[in-house]
Amino acid sequence: MLALLTTATAGTPDWDALGQETAELLSAYIRAGGQNPPGDETASAAPLMAKLEAEGIAFELWEPVPGRGNLIARLEGGDRPPLCLLSHLDVVPAEADRWSVDPFGGLIEGGYVWGRGALDMKGMGAMELMALVQLKRSGVRLDRDVLLVAVADEEVDNAGVQQVMERWDELGCSHVLNEGGLGLRDLLFEGDNLYAISVGEKGVLWLRMTAEGQPGHGSTPRPDEAPERLLKALEALRARETELSWHPAMLELFDAVGQRRSGMERFVLTHPWWTRRLLKGTLTDNPLTHAVLIDTVHITGLEGANKPNVVPSQASALLDCRLLPGTDPQDLLDELIALVDDPQVHFEVLQAVPAQVSTWQDDPLYAALVANLQEADPTAAVGPAISPGFTDSIYLRSLGVQAYGLVPVLITSEEAATMHGDDERVSVAELTRGVRVLVGTIEDFAGAGAPGETP
Ligand SMILES: [Zn+2]
Repeated sequence: MLALLTTATAGTPDWDALGQETAELLSAYIRAGGQNPPGDETASAAPLMAKLEAEGIAFELWEPVPGRGNLIARLEGGDRPPLCLLSHLDVVPAEADRWSVDPFGGLIEGGYVWGRGALDMKGMGAMELMALVQLKRSGVRLDRDVLLVAVADEEVDNAGVQQVMERWDELGCSHVLNEGGLGLRDLLFEGDNLYAISVGEKGVLWLRMTAEGQPGHGSTPRPDEAPERLLKALEALRARETELSWHPAMLELFDAVGQRRSGMERFVLTHPWWTRRLLKGTLTDNPLTHAVLIDTVHITGLEGANKPNVVPSQASALLDCRLLPGTDPQDLLDELIALVDDPQVHFEVLQAVPAQVSTWQDDPLYAALVANLQEADPTAAVGPAISPGFTDSIYLRSLGVQAYGLVPVLITSEEAATMHGDDERVSVAELTRGVRVLVGTIEDFAGAGAPGETP
C-alpha cells in the first residue's frame, strides 16, 4: 500500500505503481466494451481519451463511420519519422455463461485483470498508453514523435487500419509496434521462457470451391452429382503433399532457444542443417509450429442444399489457405485447380493478401525490443518468428513500414488459449513488466541520442 503513496523521483519510476495504474486503466477499458460486431469503438476508446486528457497528451478521434472511431495520440519528439504504438479498440464477442466472471466487468482479483480483451488486445493498448504517460511524466527527450494509434474493426474487416492507411502521410511513421507475438512459458522445453517477436505474417487466400452437377431426386444416385464432385475435389486437396519451408526467422528463433540449452539439444537447435533433419518430426506434430513451415490448405466450411431427398445443382466448400513468405496467392490457386482437375469445380477468391515480412537484422527498434525483453527476463530466449495468423501489421508492411508484433507479457499456453476463448485475463505483474519493457524500448529507439536509422 505504501508503494502506491510514494511519489517516484524523476528518472526512477515506481514500476509497481505504474503497473497498478495500468491494471486500473485496463479494467475501465474492458468495461467500455467494443464487442465486434457491431464494434462501437468510440465508446471503447472513452477511458483512453479520459486518461490522455488528464495527462495533457494531445489526441484526435478519426471517425469516418459514426461510433467507429480510430484514436490517434501524439507525444511530441523530434523530426525523425515517428514510432507508432498500434492496437485495436474492438474485441471479439464473449459467451458470458461460459465465463466464471463477467467478461465486461473488468474485475481485478487474485493478481489478475479479467475480461474480454485483457490479452487481445486491450492489455497491450493500456500498456502502450501508460508507456506514453510515463515518458511524458519523466520528461525524457525524444528525437521522434511517439504515436498511439488504436484502431477500429481489427477483429472483423480490418476497416480501421485501412482508414488510417489512407491518411498515413499525416502520420508518417517508419516503425510500428503491434500485437502478433507473445512471451510463452514451456513452449518448446519445460521451464523455458520464449519471446517470439513476430517479424512477418503468413498471407491469406480465402476461397469458395463450388462443384456443379445435375440436380435430381435423392432416391436415385447418379454419376456426376455436385456433392460427389465436391467430395472428390476435397479428397484431392486433402491428399496434397507439402514440403517444409524453413524461413530464416524461424531458424534464428530455434537458434535463440538452442543458445539457452546444453549438450545435444543446443547442438541441434543451433545448426540449421541438423534442425531441419532432427526436429522435423517434433515440429510437424505440433499444429502451431507445423503451420509456420508449410502453405496450409484448410477446409473450414461446407455449403449446399440441405434436404436429404434433394440433390442440389451446386455444393461448396470454404478453404482457408495461409501462405508462407514467397508463395504467390495466384500460384497456390493454380496448383489447387490443377490438383482438383475438374472443369465443373470452380474457385471463387474471397480474399488474397500475400505474406509480408519486415527485415529485423540491424533494425534499431527490433534490437531495442530484444535488449529490453532480455533485461526484464535474463534467462529467456528472444527471437524473430513468422506468425501463422495475420494482424493489422500485414496491411502496414505493404506501405514499407517496419512492423514488429509482441505483447510483452509472459504467459502459459493455458492463458494464451483464453484469447478469443473463456476467462481471458492478464496478471498485474505481467502488465508491470510489459510497461517497463515498452518504456525501455521506446527510450532506446526514440530517445535523443538513440542510434540512427539503417538506410
Ligand atoms: Zn488482436
